[in-house]
Amino acid sequence: MRVTSLLRALLGLKSTYVTSVGFDALGLVAVVKPTWRRPRCSRCGRRGRGYDRQRERRWRHLDLAGMRLELCYDTRRVDCRHCDAVVVEQVPWADTGSWFTRPFEDQVGYLAQRCDQSTVSRQMRVAWETVGRIVQRVVARREDDDPLDGLTIIGVDELSYRRHHEYVTVVVDHIRGRVVWASPGKNAETLLAFFAELGPERAGNLEAVTIDMSGAYIKAVTEASPQAQIIFDRFHVQRLAHEALDEVRRDEVREAIEEDERRGIKNTRWALRKNPWNLTRVERERLSRLPKANRRLYRAYMLKEALIAVLDRRQVNVAAKKLREWISWATRSRLAPFRRLAGTIRKHSEGILAYVRSGLSNGRTEGLNGKARTITRRAYGFHSAHALIALLRLCCSGIQLSPVFLWPGSTH
Ligand SMILES: [Zn+2]
Repeated sequence: MRVTSLLRALLGLKSTYVTSVGFDALGLVAVVKPTWRRPRCSRCGRRGRGYDRQRERRWRHLDLAGMRLELCYDTRRVDCRHCDAVVVEQVPWADTGSWFTRPFEDQVGYLAQRCDQSTVSRQMRVAWETVGRIVQRVVARREDDDPLDGLTIIGVDELSYRRHHEYVTVVVDHIRGRVVWASPGKNAETLLAFFAELGPERAGNLEAVTIDMSGAYIKAVTEASPQAQIIFDRFHVQRLAHEALDEVRRDEVREAIEEDERRGIKNTRWALRKNPWNLTRVERERLSRLPKANRRLYRAYMLKEALIAVLDRRQVNVAAKKLREWISWATRSRLAPFRRLAGTIRKHSEGILAYVRSGLSNGRTEGLNGKARTITRRAYGFHSAHALIALLRLCCSGIQLSPVFLWPGSTH
């Protein structure tokens, strides 16, 4: 067997001849060419006339016996009559514009679905930023059906990336439990761009949308899909209650005259956040001193717990009554953060009760949301939101990848 034939079998690439093999400083280099004679246009795929050649283009392929392996080929440019342009030719082993072979990219995609940043980078010996670009192509190759088809109940959430300075808006399909759309930004325009892509017909089929109480998202949904029921995410409502409580606590720390008192209030921080049944013994004791030690903070704590209890209700009429009671209690509480919260909740009570009626919230896909958050953190090193979005799609939209194994005779 000739060494070039051997290597051709080892590379496992479709429609690819190996003409020679050698080494350079980095590893193995295989000089290759497509099995077809006349170059093909990379835009339309049609055969055309060769125009000129670009010397020694290189593509990374899967390592061979742990050794870096590159393909080398003098790409031609095609004078394509159909496209009426001179464009680079198509090569059988890689997407146009990529300097990695498809099996290499698929392997990166497989690892990126499962491993952290440094594992992927070190194992494949590519920069994490490059992983971002590769993932975009892997996803693009696999998205055959339109993820925006057949949506009825969706959730909209914002995720911060790049250490909280920038945001992406993520749309999830609550029924199939997957991310279907994402885009940089978190204002009304961002979400309106989603509805523009969805089109009026599919937007008209939406039954419900879970969102947080941000004015931007409410505006976009009411404008683009007026028939859809707006459901406010319960976890967002809870978060607001936690924030109000924390604000009261900080005010009390500031007001405290004695150092002991100050420390006592500070110490309650984590206990106040937890569900009562999750408290440790020490935390329970700290909280049990609260009604005497600080009545305002105790009232704030009760308000938070009461609001969560309303959200736990299953009967809408009961919940509606309890919510009204809560609003009037909070309004009279003489705690400014809760008075403000009461105003917000009064304004949005319909959407909050819609949660009780439907049981739907972004928490329905909480696993998905948690995963999306983890992935967002993992994507901090990416320099573009598009790469993050591709990673979200790779990991949260049901794309199935397997590790890439090639054996003599198999081609990719
Ligand atoms: Zn063409």
